[in-house]
Amino acid sequence: MPTIDILISEVGPRDGLQNAGAIMPTEAKKRWIKAEAAAGVREIEVGSFVPAKVLPQLADTAEIVQYARSLPGLDVAVLVPNLRGAEGAVAAGANKISIPFSVSETHSLRNVRRSHEQMFEEVRRIRELIDQQEHKPHFEGGLSTAFGCTLEGPISEDLVVRSAEKLMQAGCDEVGLSDTTGYANPAQVSRLVGKVKAAVGDDRLTGIHLHNTRGLGLANVIAALDAGITTVDSSLGGLGGCPFAPGASGNIVTEDLVFMLEAMGLRTGIDLEKLLQVRAILEQSLDGEPLYGFTPDAGLPKGFRSASAA
Ligand code: ZN
Repeated sequence: MPTIDILISEVGPRDGLQNAGAIMPTEAKKRWIKAEAAAGVREIEVGSFVPAKVLPQLADTAEIVQYARSLPGLDVAVLVPNLRGAEGAVAAGANKISIPFSVSETHSLRNVRRSHEQMFEEVRRIRELIDQQEHKPHFEGGLSTAFGCTLEGPISEDLVVRSAEKLMQAGCDEVGLSDTTGYANPAQVSRLVGKVKAAVGDDRLTGIHLHNTRGLGLANVIAALDAGITTVDSSLGGLGGCPFAPGASGNIVTEDLVFMLEAMGLRTGIDLEKLLQVRAILEQSLDGEPLYGFTPDAGLPKGFRSASAA
C-alpha cells in the first residue's frame, strides 16, 4: 500500500451515529464503510460494544465489525466501556479497541458509574483478556475530557499526564487525547500533547480526537500535527452535530480535514473526489440528519492536486 503521512481514523459510524437522532440501517452502514475503505480510508471506528438499550444506534456493532474485517486493507476499531464490551470486540475480531477514560472523575462516575481506580482495574482485566488471544488487538486508552469537562470545568494537565501513565501501567498499548467537550484551543493542544508524549513516550501517544463545537477543530489539528500527532479522528459530514451548539458539526469533518492535509502536501492515501461521493449514502439513509463541511459545498479548487495522487 502507498505510504501515508497522516492516518485519518473515520469515527462517523460510532461517534457520529451515536449522537444522531436517526438509526441507520445495518445495510447502509455496510455500504458507507465499504465506500470509505474504497476511497482509501484505512481505519474506521465502526461501533461501540455497549448494551443495545443504551445505544440502539449501535446495536449491530458485532455484525458490522465482522463485515468490515472482510474489507482488504482496513483496520477495524471499536469502543468498549468495560471488560464485557472488550469480550464482544475480541469475539467479533476487531483490530483495535479503545476504552474511554474520563480524566474528570465526576464525568466518569456520572457516565460509566466507575471511579478512576475501578477504570484502571477494568483496563488490567482487558489486558489479561487480550494477552490470552492469538491475534491481539491494539489496545488504546482514550483520555476523554482531557481539555475540559462540562461538569468540572478546567481539568488539571498534571492529572491528564498521571492518568496517561497509569493507563500505560495498567496495560494499554497506547493512549489518545480526546476533546470530548469541544473546549480545546491550539495552545492547549500543543502543550498537552508535549507533556503526555514526554511522560509515556513519543510513540505511545500518536492520535487525537477533536470536536468542532467552537469552530477550532482544524486549528487544533494543525497544533497537534506540529506537536507530532500522526493519527486524527474525524467523521464524514461532521455527522452527529452538537446538541448544545446548533450549526456546529460534531467531530471534525473528514472531507475538510482531507482537503486541508492533501492541499498542504500531506498524504492521507484518500481519494478526495471519491470520498465526497460517499456523503450521498448518509443523505439517503439518514433522512433529515444535518451534514456539515465546507469542501462538499464549495467543491475542490480549480487545478487542485492531492498529495496522495502525486
Ligand atoms: Zn467524540
